[in-house]
Amino acid sequence: MKKFYNKKDLKGCLLKYKSNNKTIGFVPTMGALHEGHLSLIKKAKEKNDVVVVSIFVNPTQFDNEEDLKKYPKTIENDIKLLESVSCDVLFSPSVEEIYAKNIVSKKFNFDGLEHQMEGKFRDGHFDGVGTIVKALFEIVEPDKAYFGQKDFQQLQIIKKMVKKNNLPLKIKGCPIFREKDGLAMSSRNTRLTEEHREIAPFIFKTLKKVKKKFYKKEISEINEWVENQFKKQPLLELEYFTIAEEKTLESAETKESNKKYRAFIAVFAGKIRLIDNIRLKN
Ligand code: AMP
Repeated sequence: MKKFYNKKDLKGCLLKYKSNNKTIGFVPTMGALHEGHLSLIKKAKEKNDVVVVSIFVNPTQFDNEEDLKKYPKTIENDIKLLESVSCDVLFSPSVEEIYAKNIVSKKFNFDGLEHQMEGKFRDGHFDGVGTIVKALFEIVEPDKAYFGQKDFQQLQIIKKMVKKNNLPLKIKGCPIFREKDGLAMSSRNTRLTEEHREIAPFIFKTLKKVKKKFYKKEISEINEWVENQFKKQPLLELEYFTIAEEKTLESAETKESNKKYRAFIAVFAGKIRLIDNIRLKN
């Protein structure tokens, strides 16, 4: 695997691939890699000649200083994992390489997607995501880029950004990878205490029950039921639960047969914030 730490060298390498008509698949990450990340890379390997993975903990998308400072960094293990799935190119720039001295986000308009769910609780988060993903797309110029449905709102926002700016690449959404007990894989899971790790699968268990209830119950009834479930669970603090339409991400009050819905959840397990979602069928 080739490793690059600055834009110029990476671009030089990618230019050679491109001039040989090789297609480039790109997987942006913040490192501390797990099977969820690797599933994106495997998908990219299947569909492209060359796969580029970036590892960059983007400061402008964090609204919580401690979360940024304590974000797990496991670069040596990450490199081993990347090599195990035959990743072709790693791009792991410094903060200065990306932002120079001006570590701020650009402002984006994602037609309202940014004001729902995560946008209500993480101030400036999607401006930070938009800034870094656009910058990385401009550096790598991939044919396709792969994102997890684990961060479904992020996936929709990136698709919107690509559409609004007519960027010449395709965005591919990939399914959520889970631990055996159902907990959605996340780099932050390693920071859970033993007792929080033990209780965390409760989040997905609840989402699965929501999926069953969605066939026959009113949305307001389901919302109330979820809130009550978490009230009985002192180790987990529900930040939000909502059933939203997939396209607009607006919370739904009633079901319409021509629309697709998902249930979205954010929960604090101690200091660690976990998110998850599930596709619903009406
Ligand atoms: P992150 O390193 O957390 O920024 O994630 C990098 C990419 O991996 C994003 O597109 C995430 O949605 C995706 N990802 C993270 N966790 C999972 C998971 N459990 N299953 C599938 N994709 C994931």
